[in-house]
Amino acid sequence: MASGGANYRNGTQRNSLKGTTTATDRQLSMNSNPSKAALKNKSLSSVGASSGLRKSSPGSLGGGTAKDDAGVPGRVRVAVRLRPRNAEESVADADFSDCVELQPEFKRLKLRKNNWDTDTYEFDEVLTEFASQKRVYEVVAKPVVESVLDGYNGTVMAYGQTGTGKTYTLGRLGEEDTADRGIIVRAMEDILADVSLESDSVSVSYLQLYMESLQDLLDPTNDNISIVEDPKSGDVSLPGATLVEIRDQQSFLELLQLGEAHRYAANTRLNTESSRSHALLMVHVKRSVKGRELAHSSQNGNSTNMAKSLRPTLVRKGKLVVVDLAGSERIDKSGSEGHTLEEAKSINLSLSALGKCINALAENSAHVPVRDSKLTRLLRDSFGGTARTSLVITIGPSPRHRGETTSTIMFGQRAMKVENMLKLKEEFDYKSLARKLDIQLDKLIMEHERKQKAFEEEIERITTDTQNQISEAERNYADAMEKERLKYQKDYMESIKKLEEKWMMNQHKLGERKDQTASTAEEVAELKKLLSKETSLRKAAEEEVNNLKSQLAQLKMSEASANSESLKLRKMLEDEAYRKEKLEGEISMLQTQLLQLSFEADETRRRLDRGGPGKVPGDLDSLISQVRPQVNDSVNEEKASIANLFEQVGLQKILSLLEAEDADVRIHAVKVVANLAAEESNQQKIVEAGGLTSLLLLLGSSEDETIHRVAAGAIANLAMNETNQELIMSEGGIRLLSITAANAEDPQTLRMVAGAIANLCGNDKLQNKLRGEGGIKALLGMVKCGHPDVLAQVARGIANFAKCESRASAQVIQFSNGTGSKTGRSLLIEDGALPWIVQNANNDASPIRRHIELAVCHLAQHEVNARDMITGGALWELVRISQDCSREDIRTLAHRTLTSSPTFLAELRRLRIDY
Ligand code: ADP
Ligand code: MG
Repeated sequence: MASGGANYRNGTQRNSLKGTTTATDRQLSMNSNPSKAALKNKSLSSVGASSGLRKSSPGSLGGGTAKDDAGVPGRVRVAVRLRPRNAEESVADADFSDCVELQPEFKRLKLRKNNWDTDTYEFDEVLTEFASQKRVYEVVAKPVVESVLDGYNGTVMAYGQTGTGKTYTLGRLGEEDTADRGIIVRAMEDILADVSLESDSVSVSYLQLYMESLQDLLDPTNDNISIVEDPKSGDVSLPGATLVEIRDQQSFLELLQLGEAHRYAANTRLNTESSRSHALLMVHVKRSVKGRELAHSSQNGNSTNMAKSLRPTLVRKGKLVVVDLAGSERIDKSGSEGHTLEEAKSINLSLSALGKCINALAENSAHVPVRDSKLTRLLRDSFGGTARTSLVITIGPSPRHRGETTSTIMFGQRAMKVENMLKLKEEFDYKSLARKLDIQLDKLIMEHERKQKAFEEEIERITTDTQNQISEAERNYADAMEKERLKYQKDYMESIKKLEEKWMMNQHKLGERKDQTASTAEEVAELKKLLSKETSLRKAAEEEVNNLKSQLAQLKMSEASANSESLKLRKMLEDEAYRKEKLEGEISMLQTQLLQLSFEADETRRRLDRGGPGKVPGDLDSLISQVRPQVNDSVNEEKASIANLFEQVGLQKILSLLEAEDADVRIHAVKVVANLAAEESNQQKIVEAGGLTSLLLLLGSSEDETIHRVAAGAIANLAMNETNQELIMSEGGIRLLSITAANAEDPQTLRMVAGAIANLCGNDKLQNKLRGEGGIKALLGMVKCGHPDVLAQVARGIANFAKCESRASAQVIQFSNGTGSKTGRSLLIEDGALPWIVQNANNDASPIRRHIELAVCHLAQHEVNARDMITGGALWELVRISQDCSREDIRTLAHRTLTSSPTFLAELRRLRIDY
């Protein structure tokens, strides 16, 4: 700002850049009495009793600049400007002197009342007809403009009669001559020179007030703008008015011209002149206070950017109002426009209301009728408010308008008494902070959204990667499994092949051996022939001897039996004789009784014949008939028992021979017993006669293989009956059979023993006992002999046992009375039968195969065996049986068993075998 400002502002220092306000600043209000000002500080409207004549410092209209919220007194400054005589006046008033005389050095104006009397008035500034526009601006408006730039409201107003130069003073654009530029143009120049276009803003509204209607000169369609007052701060605003932001002087000038053109058009439309309306230019200057911001930041050197950005900017909002008032002459005087009185009143309403308000303020009146007009409402801050106000009153020199001039001067004098309380319009710009934060928030939201998206994509990517990895791992695993399976299969096939090769090789070796022996075969054959001849001869001799021996035994036996029979017969004869004797005794007794009775009868008859009644005895015939059948029955019974006795004696005899000293006799006897035992009808008798016990004893005591074979055969036959089975068991049969089997060399002996045990295996009640006594072990021990007949019996035994077990397990399930082994597992498996079972399940010999197939099915029916069967390889046999077995019933049984076992099915699934 111009350094010469001090010249006009009297001690006011520009301090916007320094950002500080000193106490001195406030006290250097040279035009105000400091003590008075201090007293008036609390009342905005009070002007005190200061006189109309004031002592003002030369060249100064500006007062002290206030910075604090409380405000500082700032009286309305008034300058008077005299227009030079115009051409018409020069002619018309040529003979008259001016009605005013100016003494600018004393800031005095002398108003000539008449030729001899003058009144003297003192103003803040007295501007002669020679005062330049520049000087007028600097004296009247510049301090106000500077205040506005500092954040105060400011008013520059021109008051005066039409044609005295109000518009000349305020509104000249100076297009032809720059020196002509008026206050408005110069003020904007200064404002634009001082503000920063980056951080500050300058905007203007341009309005006209005519007959209490406020028109927008920047938008002619907007002709009824309402005035809004903030009830709290008292600030006046025109929200409806067009507000144009000014960036440079040229556009401002164009805007002013546009406004002027609109004003002309509006006035033509309203049939009035611009002198009848008030023109108001409002310049809003909004500045952000950087100095303070910097100072604040430096105090908090460690404050973060965020904290800085959260601090609202301090803004100062100064408003400059330039008012070109309507002509102050009374309308009825000019009268040329033909308005009615009411219209005239309305036209002047605002102006007269302004006069009244100024009067009230000047007189410190309790009531200031601000609300009487729109002009006074608009200017409430300019007079008695917080604005720095400068008023220029314009007067003409002509004595013909002395009255108007006088009233203008009086208006100015009163206005000089109006005291304002200047207040800094400084506030934190929360709105722009909010905007800034909004923008920041939006940025953050966008950033967040982007990050969120990226995060989601990353998650998705990781998920996909992981899924790929998992599926790859699964694939690898499946491949590995498949490879493993194939390898296992291959190994299996290879081992099978090797075994087959081995077998083939063995066969081959066997063949070779045969070939080698072929050469000697003939010799051997010959020798064999001789041997067989010898053997047959020996056998024939042996047979002969045997025959003879048996004949002898038979003879001995018949002799013995004849002896015992004769003894028996003799005894029976004796019994019979005794009975006969007894009967004869009885008969004689009866005969005696009969004789007695006949005698008694004769006696009675004689008594009757003699005429006397007597007792009649029982009938004799009926008595005899009662006795006779009893005699006959007892004879028949004797006959039957005798026949039975004979039979009994024969069997006993045979059985007793089992214990004969002579081995041949024993053999013969055991053969006879065996033959008898083969007949089912004899079995009961043999057992009852103790034959079974004898056979078992023989099995234990004899060392003869034939006896063993035949006895075992007999036991096997007897073992078909359930009662006998129990008896065999109770008499230690299993142990005896086991020993026999262990010592036997003849396959037929083994076959008999195996057959006997196989029969016992079929008894449900004997399962545990049989196993406990080593029955299963004994059976399995016999397989090493390899004879198909033996194997068939072993297989039958195992099948029988397995069948009983499966029945028992079904009952266990049904009744839950565990009677099997502790684990519930098959005793066959427990005793190690499974490998042999698996090995022989597909035996070429069909009896063996059948029994084993059945055994496998029975074992498989009990789920607890499944695991062992799988590991033992029995599952494959079961599968094979279910598919290949030639017997349909076994095939069906195998299939049903397999499909009802969850363990087997799971195993098949695990091995990926579709069943
Ligand atoms: P108002 O606006 O008060 O009605 P104007 O500004 O229109 O008066 O002035 C009326 C006439 O007087 C205009 O022709 C103007 O040029 C002239 N005039 C006013 N003041 C001066 C001045 N100080 N010096 C020269 N001419 C002036
Ligand atoms: Mg004018």
